[in-house]
Amino acid sequence: MEATNRPPRSRVLHVTPELAPLVKLGGLGDVAGSLPRALREDGVDCRALLPAYPGVLDRVHDLGLPCRRVPQNLHVALNWRVYSGRLWRTDLDGVPVYLLEQPELFTDPQVYPGSMTCETVLPFLFLGAAALELAGAARWKPQILHLHDWPASTASVLLKWHRHYHRLAEEYDTVLTIHNLAHQGIVAHTGLDGWGFPKTCFSIEGLEFYGHVNLLKGGILAADAITTVSPRYSWDVQTHDGGMGLEGVLYASRGKLRGILNGIDYRIWNPAADPLIPAPYSAQDLAGKATCREELLRTCGWSAEGGPLLVFIGRLVEQKGIDLILASLDRLLAEGNRVVLIGSGHPLFRDRVSAAAQRHPGRMWTFTDFDERVAHQAYAGGDLLLMPSLFEPCGLSQLISMAYGTIPVARATGGLADTVIDADGSPDGTGFLFLDYDPGELIQAVRRAANAMGDPVRWGQIQQRAMTADFSWAQSARAYEDLYQDLLGYGPEEDFYR
Ligand code: ADP
Repeated sequence: MEATNRPPRSRVLHVTPELAPLVKLGGLGDVAGSLPRALREDGVDCRALLPAYPGVLDRVHDLGLPCRRVPQNLHVALNWRVYSGRLWRTDLDGVPVYLLEQPELFTDPQVYPGSMTCETVLPFLFLGAAALELAGAARWKPQILHLHDWPASTASVLLKWHRHYHRLAEEYDTVLTIHNLAHQGIVAHTGLDGWGFPKTCFSIEGLEFYGHVNLLKGGILAADAITTVSPRYSWDVQTHDGGMGLEGVLYASRGKLRGILNGIDYRIWNPAADPLIPAPYSAQDLAGKATCREELLRTCGWSAEGGPLLVFIGRLVEQKGIDLILASLDRLLAEGNRVVLIGSGHPLFRDRVSAAAQRHPGRMWTFTDFDERVAHQAYAGGDLLLMPSLFEPCGLSQLISMAYGTIPVARATGGLADTVIDADGSPDGTGFLFLDYDPGELIQAVRRAANAMGDPVRWGQIQQRAMTADFSWAQSARAYEDLYQDLLGYGPEEDFYR
């Protein structure tokens, strides 16, 4: 009989508040939708647990996915009563996904609480506990719980401090991935007793954070390993500027912290086979990109003549550097650039960008809604992508724009610094970077990019390098597998015996 020397398949449950295409509000949804599949392709028995918010089971049905009920319910004691959860199992590209239904708790289709209170975070305490109860109901027991952001960090918090669940601590390893430190799950401490935590965990070494409970802080302390979604962000979060109050905790936890870059799904983001753009093109033949540019100009009501076409695609929030764009706008437009800005988000920013577009009808166009088609068309039709983020855990927009030959002009922070190489600073350049959060710096970087566009040979080379850079999930998945192997203690010696 043929010997099988492969390590046993590790069993990993991703616990997540979002998972594309069922639930997506941002990059976290993309990651939870793509990473488990990439891990499974490498032989990890990877599954996911996602709350069945209102409408999610209908979406499963609309997508024609299989869905069957797990016969056994799971039960969790919270706030002096028992909540029962019903599990449904579907299959997404070969990944088993458990959908957790609890109609009294998962009532909000918006996913995240508008205001943070002990009551509004209760569904996520339930989610964490359900991850620990899943084995009994699903008859499949993970070795590793991979937790995404504060809503899932509750599982490791329960394993460390809960009166009952701490008994299970030896049975699971936990990985906490921080997608965005701006969201930490901070609430009053009055809920702790009802959730099943002893008073002692409300301390500086526990859940306490300036007199409140901080669920992400608890998760950071409790998890066996922590990851951020890019290597640079793992450094940024240990600094005063990037740590959002948790820099001390993250610095103290640096021994179990690593940064693993997100990938993008090239089955979706491929200009040669993108049904949402006017003409296909590739690194070998860029003719279609010119057609996409003409179409975008037509949409804006502009003629083909004129300077560089700068596009922004992202949420209209402080993080994305909207302030910097607005502060640089008059200068950028006066120097011959044209700006297309696509984003939904904060009404204040929406009003400000709309007002700016009204002031410059021939040079600035905005679309303040979330629309996949418009976003794809802007990625394909633009010359440059503006991404002057204040902070950026990873960023997907710059990876997508590079695949479309639209060259990023970005602030060198977080994942942007890890993925964009400055074309004036290196022969391997794929974009243009600036460091200080300052309008003059952004304007200068755009000038450098416009200058490079004036040299078609050099510009073509930058585009080639950007379009052929590989940010696929396969690489990131391998880094996560290494982490799992480290946690499970499978070294090369042990491999020999399997
Ligand atoms: P974040 O997760 O912080 O929002 P990322 O750059 O990681 O930022 O991911 C943003 C994703 O959302 C990208 O796929 C981007 O194309 C998409 N996106 C952002 N705004 C819009 C919009 N208004 N319409 C369509 N897609 C958008």
